[in-house]
Amino acid sequence: MAKIAINIATGTLQKEEIIVGIDLGTTNSLVAIIHPDTKQPIALKDIDNTVLVPSIIHFGDNEQITVGNEARNYLESDPSNTIYSVKRLMGKSYNDVKSKGHSLSYNVIDDDTDRLVKIQVGQKFYSPIELSSLILKELKHRAEHVLKMNISKCVITVPAYFNDAQRQATRDAGKLAGLEVLRIINEPTAASLAYGFGTRNDESSLIAVYDLGGGTFDVSILRITDGIFDVLSTNGDTYLGGDDFDRVLATYFAEKIGLTHEELSIHKSMAQTLRLKAEEAKKQLSTQDQFTFQIDDTELTITKNEFESLIKPLVDKTIDSCANALKDSEISKAEIDVIVMVGGSTRVPYVKQRVSEFFGKPVYDNVNPDEVVALGAAVQADILAGNNKDTLLLDITPLSLGIETMGGLMDVLLPRNSKIPSKAGRQYTTQRDGQSGINIAIYQGERDLVKDNRRLAEFALTGIPAMPAGLPKVDIQFVIDADGILQVKANELRSGVSQSIEVKPQYGLTDAEVESMLMASIVNAKEDIKIRSIIEASTEAEQMIQLTENFMHKHAQHITEEEKSATQSGIVALQQSIEAKDKDQILTATEKLNEVTRPYAERVMDVAIGEALKGSTI
Ligand code: ADP
Ligand code: MG
Repeated sequence: MAKIAINIATGTLQKEEIIVGIDLGTTNSLVAIIHPDTKQPIALKDIDNTVLVPSIIHFGDNEQITVGNEARNYLESDPSNTIYSVKRLMGKSYNDVKSKGHSLSYNVIDDDTDRLVKIQVGQKFYSPIELSSLILKELKHRAEHVLKMNISKCVITVPAYFNDAQRQATRDAGKLAGLEVLRIINEPTAASLAYGFGTRNDESSLIAVYDLGGGTFDVSILRITDGIFDVLSTNGDTYLGGDDFDRVLATYFAEKIGLTHEELSIHKSMAQTLRLKAEEAKKQLSTQDQFTFQIDDTELTITKNEFESLIKPLVDKTIDSCANALKDSEISKAEIDVIVMVGGSTRVPYVKQRVSEFFGKPVYDNVNPDEVVALGAAVQADILAGNNKDTLLLDITPLSLGIETMGGLMDVLLPRNSKIPSKAGRQYTTQRDGQSGINIAIYQGERDLVKDNRRLAEFALTGIPAMPAGLPKVDIQFVIDADGILQVKANELRSGVSQSIEVKPQYGLTDAEVESMLMASIVNAKEDIKIRSIIEASTEAEQMIQLTENFMHKHAQHITEEEKSATQSGIVALQQSIEAKDKDQILTATEKLNEVTRPYAERVMDVAIGEALKGSTI
């Protein structure tokens, strides 16, 4: 494909374009490119010479949104309007996150279901996708400012353990920020690319990537064969990182000046000062043997040795993870060719020393550990741009492939740029009780509503035995073979009924059409995602109304008249909000109905379980 891009804002042609690499991190995010002259990857610097943009968003008065260092200043002073660690929430339901027992200072909507989480800021509700898109938008602006050109294409990295939903959420965030996400790549793969591994076709090697960031740790074992990366195993702890180093250090300082845990929890500003000092001390101790500072007339000193024994239990945990990752990959320590260090916290010499001792080899650490992932993403971007001639380019799907779901939404199974051959599958269920058939309509394209995409085929899976809604398990598999032919199979797992169809997605599709479909998805991203979120909220709300009505009907004798009438008005309000097609209003009304039904739902369930037990003989 020709390397000519159209500037979306102005409609003019742009001679040359740069595809950027983006590390969208839990703590920090950044952008890197391949320097047009030196051909080396470099991280983009801001006017104030900083590379890292803290992944923090602050919502001020009058919807004023700030991202980065400026937003960080509000973490303490305006916690409920300051969002951090949003990456942890990507593609997650409330049930996924609540069990972690880690509270966030902002409001994650608790609707006790498997629906995707939303974050409430004032009267508005945001999805993690929308929040991540704000960070990406900021990165895009900064890059455009520095490079003095339009940026429309990127590669974004995600942890190797991210599932399909989390990857799709990251893609959507990119799209919403006005970026075409050419590819989502694994962070350990990116780090290896930054060191030049896997960019030639003739090598085969085993790489361990150890990534210790601000709040997360993971280690991955990769095998590279002929330029293709395989993640053999990944292990780690999504609640372990440099912030924990700060915490143990702050506690240590507090003890030294005779403050108990209770005193510290009351004395918030002192706790804050100690935490900041702890981070400063930690960083200093990465290059010097001791650190001294004054606090309330007391001089405190911490040596590197003391620091190391404080963090030892934390580092031990990461080493255990390395052992587990090796075990899962069925690779022995000795077989590992290279150990790559990633993440700001691997600057701590003790961390490097322990990892190197464990693997019995020196570690690779000469590329800046907090830039290495973004630099690798830039290398990948350059390969996709066709600039890196030595590298093998695989056949890929030019547009996403998926099926229609409730409300006419496009559910992508094979995202665009998937390797060919490849396959993907997902489970669906029925909406109505006793539903005996399910229609499977296959579409191609990047828009959120199927009506804007290209319809490829449609078939029906019939003969599903009568079951309550939600019980059938319809497994849909997309398999695209080396010739680009797509086979779609639907299989109801409980009954075994199945059906399949074959299509040629590329048939009759020109490059120009692909290009214009991509363009349309970017131009309409904002509106598309808005409509999508309204449809999703309405679908959920309708299901909730249905469930509530069924429940009231079934347990009528255990519910008081007041509860019934409160629920009725809750339902009416929710129905009105659905008609109003306003996402925030629907979510607010859903929350309200939840609050009304929750108290009696629990009580009634207890009674019902009691009755059921009475009637049964054991
Ligand atoms: P993430 O991948 O989670 O976004 P980063 O890779 O940017 O995170 O790592 C951030 C962490 O690195 C923070 O806890 C920060 O304190 C720590 N860090 C940064 N520089 C140093 C240093 N010189 N010594 C020790 N830790 C550091
Ligand atoms: Mg990282």
